[in-house]
Amino acid sequence: MPDETYWNRDVETMSWQDVRDLQLEKLRGQLDYVVARSPLYARKFAEAGFDSARLRSLDDLRHAPFTTKDELRESQIGSPPLGEHAAADLRDVIRIHSSSGTTGRPSYVGITRRDRDVWTETVSRVYYCEGVRPEDVVVHGFGLGFFVGGLPLKDAIENIGATFIPIGTGASDRLVTSIRDLGGTILTCTPSYANYLAEYVRERFEMDPSELGLCRILLGAEPGGGIPAVRDRLAHEFGAFVTESLGNADLIPTYSANCDELDGNHFLAPDFMILEVVDPDTGEPLELENGVEGELVATHIERECVPLVRFRVRDRVLVKTSPCACGRTAPRFTCVGRTDDMLIVAGVNVWPSAIKDVVTSLYPRTTGALQIPLTEPPPRVDPPLRVQVEYGEEEVDLLGLKHELEALIREKLIAKAEVELVPADTLPRFEMKAQLIRKLYDEAEVAAR
Ligand SMILES: [Zn+2]
Repeated sequence: MPDETYWNRDVETMSWQDVRDLQLEKLRGQLDYVVARSPLYARKFAEAGFDSARLRSLDDLRHAPFTTKDELRESQIGSPPLGEHAAADLRDVIRIHSSSGTTGRPSYVGITRRDRDVWTETVSRVYYCEGVRPEDVVVHGFGLGFFVGGLPLKDAIENIGATFIPIGTGASDRLVTSIRDLGGTILTCTPSYANYLAEYVRERFEMDPSELGLCRILLGAEPGGGIPAVRDRLAHEFGAFVTESLGNADLIPTYSANCDELDGNHFLAPDFMILEVVDPDTGEPLELENGVEGELVATHIERECVPLVRFRVRDRVLVKTSPCACGRTAPRFTCVGRTDDMLIVAGVNVWPSAIKDVVTSLYPRTTGALQIPLTEPPPRVDPPLRVQVEYGEEEVDLLGLKHELEALIREKLIAKAEVELVPADTLPRFEMKAQLIRKLYDEAEVAAR
């Protein structure tokens, strides 16, 4: 039963040792199920010489092979509709989602009734941690169709007993009107959309976004919410408390979130999933210790339809294990970027989200919008790194702004950049997920090289 602070006090405050014991027990059962029912894993384990029956401790999980997104995609093409990693009977599948933002063929994710319950429980913990309570009216501004940021979030908000207002994307007029008419207290959406909405409210409704009266904005689905400058700007614009949660369509829609301490994202599903952090280059597991940075790897321990073992999430995270004032005990993770997005400029790792942080810090002299055009496939970029940045309406000293941005990028990211300033509202706006990188090269041509 939820109390004042926690949706699930037992799990959220369990000692880490007890969590590990529970995870080991559940992992054994899950691996037996996976080997028996998933042709992909039966084959992968056999090829890697991994015998799940001989699992002695959680550390032994490191001997299991990784699973990549490409493998899942191929598995689905070769064995439609859900792939060779699907372990449940299709009769038992109650809903199919699609992961967002991918190019080409969509990637489908099925869930059984029990999987749905696990999602609802986890997302309820996430939203409760971010302050959603039964008296709240939550306006939903993520895509509602197919996307895991749609119906699973509705299930959780209703589960908490709050009022769910299904708006979705592309309906900003209706969204603003419903906040006013229905007394919306909380908005949940992407950071790009929240930014867009602030501009929209000013222009279309000629009012200050803070007049909407929102108490909280819950961000997700892209890394922006973890960038302090982006969060601060939105908090200021809307006069609301801003937090973020992280998730993944192939795992659980959201499984970690900020509490009001804003000191990293609490992992809230330790009884449903095991998280490891590995060296992105060697794949070696790293200790879950304060300050460790690496790539997130996830293993379901309670999943029926499409269970994954050691899935490379491609999120690069910073681990925090220091105690949090809220009393939650699991490690916290802050996403510092997607390993897919990372650029290497003259040997230095540069995250587009870190450039976004710099650009946004100069708001309102910049609008915060930017694009990084690439003429060759990432990650390697010949310096200088080209960055297109929108200047704010008022800016007159363009040369000064350009030099200031280049100096900040050099100082904070140790990368040489060439900033090109463009007028406000000329770069593409994204309602769903902001794409900071623009590919100018021909992908087919590159693949043929
Ligand atoms: Zn906390």
